[in-house]
Amino acid sequence: MALMSLRNLTLWVAVTAALLCVACLPTMTMAADEDPLQDFCVADLASATTVNGKVCKPLAQVVATDFKSSLLNKAGNTNNANSAAVTAANVDNFAGLNTLGISMARIDFAKGGLNVPHTHPRASEILFVAEGTLYVGFVSTANTLFATTLNKGDVFVFPRGLVHFQLNIGNYPAVAIAALGSQNPGVQQIAPALFTPDINDQVLTKAFKITQQEVNNIQAKFRV
Ligand code: MN
Repeated sequence: MALMSLRNLTLWVAVTAALLCVACLPTMTMAADEDPLQDFCVADLASATTVNGKVCKPLAQVVATDFKSSLLNKAGNTNNANSAAVTAANVDNFAGLNTLGISMARIDFAKGGLNVPHTHPRASEILFVAEGTLYVGFVSTANTLFATTLNKGDVFVFPRGLVHFQLNIGNYPAVAIAALGSQNPGVQQIAPALFTPDINDQVLTKAFKITQQEVNNIQAKFRV
């Protein structure tokens, strides 16, 4: 009798483990954009219809140039406070990407240029250095820094959702090309996200362990 109970318990554990594995599958498949349901679905960017993505333009109207973008063929204007410029080619300006789960960006850096700490909520990013020398890194959810120096031709990957940055530490301008695992990766810059909107000052003084005056000073810099 005791033996039977042990067998039943073993069977129950095995069945429960199998069910848990099956339950995990949808989570695993949703770790990136949804899989496409057809060869392509070139976005109808003029459509006002809201879906999870963009509606497809009629198949008969799809042409080769829907799958081409010249957005990244020239340098962005780095004449700004960060001395860097991010030019994105995503589904909002490159209709052929719709439903395909990928996008790109070009990042131009003047000397000392910084792509400020930011996250992409929907994509990992792989960065190729086309020109120059960059100090790059990301911070894990355990607040561990993973940072290194990249030279021309090097590649670095920033895991999905983690805070990351790139700084030009060379003596000349730098250029990097990023590929991202979403048609619409999203980008949120950490400092502007917290100091541009009118968040209650107590939130910021406590969170950053700084004074009211320091909060005001930082906010003023992001609200020009
Ligand atoms: Mn990025």
